[in-house]
Amino acid sequence: MGIKEIIKKGKRCVVLTGSGVSAESGIPTFRGDKGLWKEYRPEELATPDAFMRNPQLVWEWYNWRRGIIAKAKPNAAHYVISDMEKFFADFMLITQNIDGLHRKAGNKDILELHGNIWENKCFNCGKRYGEIMSEKLQKCECGGYLRPDVVWFGESLDREVLEMAFLKAREAELCFVIGTSGVVQPAASLPYVSKESGAYIVEINLERTPISSIADEFISGKAGEALVKMRESFLHGSG
Ligand code: NAD
Ligand code: ZN
Repeated sequence: MGIKEIIKKGKRCVVLTGSGVSAESGIPTFRGDKGLWKEYRPEELATPDAFMRNPQLVWEWYNWRRGIIAKAKPNAAHYVISDMEKFFADFMLITQNIDGLHRKAGNKDILELHGNIWENKCFNCGKRYGEIMSEKLQKCECGGYLRPDVVWFGESLDREVLEMAFLKAREAELCFVIGTSGVVQPAASLPYVSKESGAYIVEINLERTPISSIADEFISGKAGEALVKMRESFLHGSG
């Protein structure tokens, strides 16, 4: 069966997205030339060690990223993915993105593996705080510093969210992998789980990734452009 038949007949679909999906909204990816802030690589800032060494610096970096994300709008890729949610009887969007653009585009069933950049929590006691837009690092009532409630390199993901992601990946008949470099674990394992249980894997990326070797179909190009070409298939379906 080719992709057209699978889309027509399949009921269970998962989509795994990475920062490439938001690139056309003007948000830099981590592994791209516009990903740099000052002279730092993201791997030097998005870690608990970096925050312990220099919490103000890490806070400023997030403030910069929040500024970019605040101005960004969902692009065609986000909108087609929201059409997909309506089309498939059983659908789950699993995203590594922390920018909230999928929700803005209308998706409701979303597993945000790495959290959301607008939320904050105390680095010390874990108490949750909502949105804070401030140049200056803030403190919790316990005296600890506030940090964004996102998952940093070397940190564990929320267990329930992760279990649900693996369950949906295992059950899927069709798995789209869009705009992710496929090197950040455990997210990168999800397509392999789908593949093992017999799903058809479609990857969309500007370049090949480690996941490409298991993809039944690799579509080379920008996520927005590639998905718009497929949009028709997701509009009038059996659901
Ligand atoms: P990544 O930065 O490692 O890789 C981006 C991938 O997207 C690359 O493979 C690149 O070839 C591809 N790409 C770039 N532009 C594209 C486009 N227009 N269309 C299709 N593909 C495109 O990103 P990742 O795999 O998501 O993993 C790194 C981490 O980065 C994640 O933990 C994520 O939380 C974080 N991150 C998130 C955002 C965001 O929320 N928008 C932005 C930067 C980084
Ligand atoms: Zn605290």
